[in-house]
Amino acid sequence: MPVPKRKTSKSRRDKRRTHWNLNEVNLEECPRCHEMKLPHRACLECGYYDGNKIISTSVKEIKKKKEVKEVKEIKKKKEVKEVKKK
Ligand SMILES: [Zn+2]
Repeated sequence: MPVPKRKTSKSRRDKRRTHWNLNEVNLEECPRCHEMKLPHRACLECGYYDGNKIISTSVKEIKKKKEVKEVKEIKKKKEVKEVKKK
């Protein structure tokens, strides 16, 4: 197994880490609800992008979607079990 010839010095290690920084997040105002949002993304507050509703934001809609997903998964599991029994 290849092994480094020398230990990385503290200086070299720290110089390498000078580039470890985070950029400030670029936000813009949603034209619909005037909340701050990421550019080129649907607004998480109102769920709109380019004048169209893209994502559901109300708790009811999200819960419904989750329930539908769960029911589908349960059905799939049942089908798999039945196949295994056969
Ligand atoms: Zn919005």
